[in-house]
Amino acid sequence: MENVRVRFAPSPTGPLHIGGVRTALFNYLFAKKHNGTFVLRIEDTDQTRYVANAESYITESLEWCGIPFDEGPGKNEKFGPYRQSERKEIYKKYADALVASNQAYYAFDTSEELDILRNQAEANKTVFVYNNVSRETLNNSINLTKQEVEAKLAAGEKYVIRFKTPKDQKLILDDMIRGEIIIDTNTLDDKILFKSDGMPTYHLANIVDDHLMEISHVIRGEEWLPSLPLHSLLYEAFGWIAPKFAHLPLILKPVGKGKLSKRDGDKLGFPVFPLNYTNQETSEVSKGYKEEGYFNDAFINMLALLGWNPGTEQEIFSLEELCKEFSIERVSKSGAKFSPDKTKWFNQQYMMSTDISKIVAEFKALNSEAVTGFDDVYITKVIEAVRERAIFSKDLWELSDYYFANPTSYDQKAAKKQWKETTSPLIKEVANVIKNIEDFNSATIEEKVKEYITSNELGFGKVMQPLRLSIVGAMKGPHLFDIIEMIGKENTLERIENSIKKLG
Ligand code: GLU
Repeated sequence: MENVRVRFAPSPTGPLHIGGVRTALFNYLFAKKHNGTFVLRIEDTDQTRYVANAESYITESLEWCGIPFDEGPGKNEKFGPYRQSERKEIYKKYADALVASNQAYYAFDTSEELDILRNQAEANKTVFVYNNVSRETLNNSINLTKQEVEAKLAAGEKYVIRFKTPKDQKLILDDMIRGEIIIDTNTLDDKILFKSDGMPTYHLANIVDDHLMEISHVIRGEEWLPSLPLHSLLYEAFGWIAPKFAHLPLILKPVGKGKLSKRDGDKLGFPVFPLNYTNQETSEVSKGYKEEGYFNDAFINMLALLGWNPGTEQEIFSLEELCKEFSIERVSKSGAKFSPDKTKWFNQQYMMSTDISKIVAEFKALNSEAVTGFDDVYITKVIEAVRERAIFSKDLWELSDYYFANPTSYDQKAAKKQWKETTSPLIKEVANVIKNIEDFNSATIEEKVKEYITSNELGFGKVMQPLRLSIVGAMKGPHLFDIIEMIGKENTLERIENSIKKLG
């Protein structure tokens, strides 16, 4: 494919939902797969919904996800500016051109007049639509004389510019995911292209910018599919070649029905945003994947498989692999169910495979005080021993605290069950065995302790369970002799002694 240029075109109205991140990701993957360019365009023509910190949230999210844009605000501004609010002057002439070629018209109807029509229609159990039938009788330049229109414009009367939808046409549209879509133009309304506040609507600005920015493929959410007929009519009206379109399936609630919303996340306790977001008006903080402890590559891997499948059983993909493997043909038409459990599963897989030094660094940052005095070699061994049980870096401390400090308390239930009257003398003898081991490594310690157990005809559990309680303080942790080797002989004996004092 030649000259692939795709764009992610969010409106800065709040934090970027993971559905938006997925749209950005699929655009990014498509661009990288075809050596193309990934453009970020900020669609901020709707001033009423504009939120000041939303744009920086969007760019920071893309950065964290590792899918930065190639062109956009402040970066390689070849086709800039990339904020529609800074392109205001561009759009009017395109709207005017459509009026001049009789493919759009001025509509002077006031909102009060339109409200009356809506109410009347409602009373008759119908719906008022400004379309290719009703426009014939309304207050617009189709029905007014040239002089009347000029007089209104000269008097500064408010107007909008509407698209003059052609009558009785059968549109045959093509979507890369959905295939052929046939639409009768008589079912469409005459959408506003240019508003009375001097700003273009989404439809006009979007088409003009995609054209001027030489966008080759429009990959966006399914909610924009209903706009496709108008958009392709606009390309036709301007005499431009339309880009190819792909409308991505919705991300569905975990139960499978309906679009995934923030409320689902709040209810079930998972984030629907990549980063924490503070609403500047209410100071409400919404949780993000980053701050919850997810790895960015695990998050991206999970998102990639929401709606796309590689056609094999493979589930773990690096971003590089995704760039190679991704294809629009393998994106499904039907909605993709979001699973919070699967998302955790992905993180756990990355916990296992992420470079150990990165995990160690995170662990140290989270527990800096508790691990002072321990060197990286020791900490690395600890993390290697416990990380398979962790989903997040923040889980690691609870899984490994006993490597760094003697137990200060003992799991009561376990103590009651494991520490019998005969236990203390028994454990004292085990301590003696341990004390005499010269070559202090896991295998030798295991051999000697087991030798002691068998030669005294004791049950394994009778010794091993209380011994674990002495060393760890609870019935958790990896192979006990590995732990003993790690903490060393002296500390082991100290812990045994403490437990005898406290539990005996
Ligand atoms: N500004 C639209 C949005 O917020 C972009 C839709 C499109 O990609 O065409 O989703």
